[in-house]
Amino acid sequence: MQNFTQLQEILSTPKDILITSHRNPDGDAVGSSLALMHYLKSLFHTVYVSFPSDFPNNFAWMEGSDEVLIYDSKVKKVNKIIDNADLVFALDYNGLDRIDKMGEYIAKSKVPVAMIDHHLHPQEFSQYTLSDPTASSTCELVYDFIKQMDESKPLDVKIAEYIYTGILTDTGSFKYSVSPKLFKIAAQLLETGVDADKVQMLVFNSLPIKNLELLGYCLNKRMEILPEIKTGIITLTKKDYEDFDIQRGDTEGIVNYLLMLNDVKVAAFVSEQPKIVKLSLRSKGDYAVNEIASAHFKGGGHKNAAGGASFTGLSSTLKKLKKILTEQYSENNGIAEDKD
Ligand code: 5GP
Ligand code: MN
Repeated sequence: MQNFTQLQEILSTPKDILITSHRNPDGDAVGSSLALMHYLKSLFHTVYVSFPSDFPNNFAWMEGSDEVLIYDSKVKKVNKIIDNADLVFALDYNGLDRIDKMGEYIAKSKVPVAMIDHHLHPQEFSQYTLSDPTASSTCELVYDFIKQMDESKPLDVKIAEYIYTGILTDTGSFKYSVSPKLFKIAAQLLETGVDADKVQMLVFNSLPIKNLELLGYCLNKRMEILPEIKTGIITLTKKDYEDFDIQRGDTEGIVNYLLMLNDVKVAAFVSEQPKIVKLSLRSKGDYAVNEIASAHFKGGGHKNAAGGASFTGLSSTLKKLKKILTEQYSENNGIAEDKD
């Protein structure tokens, strides 16, 4: 971590700290934030956590999740916390625009920021920076950070469990971005006492029926495969959102099913939200979807998993996406086949 010694010095006496993560928090955002919260509290700091928007229900079992301040509905309170904070942690995002209005307020307040993140192309807004795009997850990096703070201090089981959760969700249960280092960390987390079955149950095996019905609907009625450009697209309309009473997190992971097809190298999940059209992009192999997201959809992310938004309505967004993917396909002379 850049300027780690200075940060360690700051953290050597009790401080007021705000931990933040990105809009539409996922398991990595919630897991890393609550793990770091409990760790910093154990060092006698006063710690708050705030996300721009609410997180899915399957992370509400984590202790402290009920203390999380949702910025959209607690603007004044969080702004006051920022005014008084000695330090803000930015977890699982690397540009203040990912936390919208809260980011604007943090930038104005001049409070020092410590970023821990694994996305490509970090922006320069943090005084202390642990940025590693080769890491599976921010949780993996929070583990590194805690160990760097004090190698000999045993990890609390709760903290280990929340770190494990973020690793599990960001790697799709150890399917993507795995490395020898990650498996060593996972082993250490289990040795600490993490109940892997319990976490699996709480995070993945506790769905209401409507989620499987929605998945079936997406695959049966809303999936379009374009074999000529090795692309799969799932689209949901505003009406689908109403019909299925889709809440935050309900569509998480559906896009990945498209990649199970041999013929699909690029997958898109396009959803019509009240004001914007949101795109989730996934790919296999060398195809970099984050470049498409940042060049055309004001977004970003990782090479094989990225996202963005469009403001021109659903059908024009779909047209634009297909045009871009078709051009990209012919530019690449087809999409490089995976080696496997
Ligand atoms: P998802 O498709 O699951 O929403 O997001 C996949 C990845 O793309 C995540 O790592 C996330 O950080 C990134 N991502 C999603 N939406 C956006 C966006 O609007 N802007 C940026 N910069 N990254 C995004
Ligand atoms: Mn992440």
